[in-house]
Amino acid sequence: MESLSREDMVDKRLEIAYSIIVREFEETFTPLLVEINELPKTLGISFEELDLLKSKHQIRYVLNTTKVLLQPKEPPKLKVDKTAKIRRLKKLNHLLSNISKLSLDEKVEISLKIIRKSLAYSKNPAVAFSGGKDSIVVLHLVRQLMPNILVIFDNTGVEFPETIRYIKTLAKDWNLNLVEVRPDTSFWKIISKKGYPIGGRGSQFFMKKMQEDTGIKIGNKCCYELKEKPVKRLVKEKEIDLIFVGNRVHESVMRKFNLADFGAIRFSSVYNTVISWPIFFFTEKDVWEYIKRHDLPINPLYNMGYKRVGCWACMQDIFHKDSRILDLRKNHYKLYMYLIRNYGEDIITILKYKTGPDNPVVKLLESDLNNIKKYKNSRSKDDS
Ligand code: SF4
Repeated sequence: MESLSREDMVDKRLEIAYSIIVREFEETFTPLLVEINELPKTLGISFEELDLLKSKHQIRYVLNTTKVLLQPKEPPKLKVDKTAKIRRLKKLNHLLSNISKLSLDEKVEISLKIIRKSLAYSKNPAVAFSGGKDSIVVLHLVRQLMPNILVIFDNTGVEFPETIRYIKTLAKDWNLNLVEVRPDTSFWKIISKKGYPIGGRGSQFFMKKMQEDTGIKIGNKCCYELKEKPVKRLVKEKEIDLIFVGNRVHESVMRKFNLADFGAIRFSSVYNTVISWPIFFFTEKDVWEYIKRHDLPINPLYNMGYKRVGCWACMQDIFHKDSRILDLRKNHYKLYMYLIRNYGEDIITILKYKTGPDNPVVKLLESDLNNIKKYKNSRSKDDS
C-alpha cells in the first residue's frame, strides 16, 4: 500500500478539522469553542497550524489567550456564487423549523447553551440593554448565569422619557451593573449635515433613486454616531470581549441572512469584540411568553401601543403599517408636533413618494402640517 507523504497527511488532518468545524456550525449555527491546548485532541491540529487551516479552508477564527472560536467563513456573495448562500440559508431554515417544534423551556435551554458557550470564551462580557422587549429577555437569561454582568445602555439622546425612567427603575430594582454611554454629538446636529433617517431600510438602489427623485437628503449616519461610536469607545476602554444582544432572525430577512452567514456567536470587526445572539430563533410570541412566564417588567411604551421603543425621532419605519408616527401622535403629541413642524415636509414627501398621495397617514400628516402653517400665519398677522 502506498504511504501518504507528510504533506498529504497534514492535508488530511486539516480536512478532518474543517469537517468538524463545519458540522458544529451547521448543527447549531455557533462556532466550535476549543481550549488552545486541546486543539490536537479535539481537531488533530496544533496551534501553529491554525493559520494553515485558515489558508487551506474557508474558516474564520478568533482567539483569546486560552481559547479559540472556529467557524466556517461566510459564503460568497450571490453574484459570485449563486448557490452557496442559499445552501447555508437552507441549513438555517432547517434548524429553525426543528426549533419551532420545541416548547419554550426547550428553546430556553438552547439559549442558555449559547450563553454558556459565549461566556466560556469571554473574560470580560457585557449585555446590551435598549429597554426593549427582546433585550429584557436576553438580560434576564444572561443574568441567570452571570448576575453581575456589565449592562450597557446606549442613550442616543432621542430616547423616549419612558424608556429612561424604565431603565433607571430596573437598574435599581435588579441592582444592575449598568453603564450608560452617550454620544458626543446630538441627533439634530447629525441630521442637519447628513440627512434624516426616513424609510431608509430598503434596498440601496431604491433609497438612492428616492433621494434623487425627491431631492431630500436621507441618511442613517446617526446610527453610527449615536450607537456604534459610543459603544465602540466603551468596548475599547473596558476591554469588553463579548456583548450579548437581543437580535432575532424573525424580525427581518436581512437578519436571517446575517445569521446564516455569520452565526450566533461571531467576531464583529465593527465593534472589535465578539457579539452573541442567544435568542436568535425566538419568535415574537416566544418573547412575550417568556416575559409573561417570568413576570418581567416591560417598557410602558408597549402598553401605549408602540411596537418599537428605540429613538422616538426615528422615521426609518415610516413605510411600515405599524410605524411609530401614529403612536407618537397619539401618546407624545408635543414630540410629534416638534417633528412635523420642523421635518414634516420631508417626512410627508418621502411617504407620499412610496405610498402615493391617498395614503390616509399622508393625509393626516398634511392636515397637521397645514394647521401648523395656518396658526403660524395667523400669529404673524397678529404681530404685524
Ligand atoms: S435608530 Fe434611527 S434615529 Fe436612532 S440612531 Fe438609528 S437611524 Fe438614527
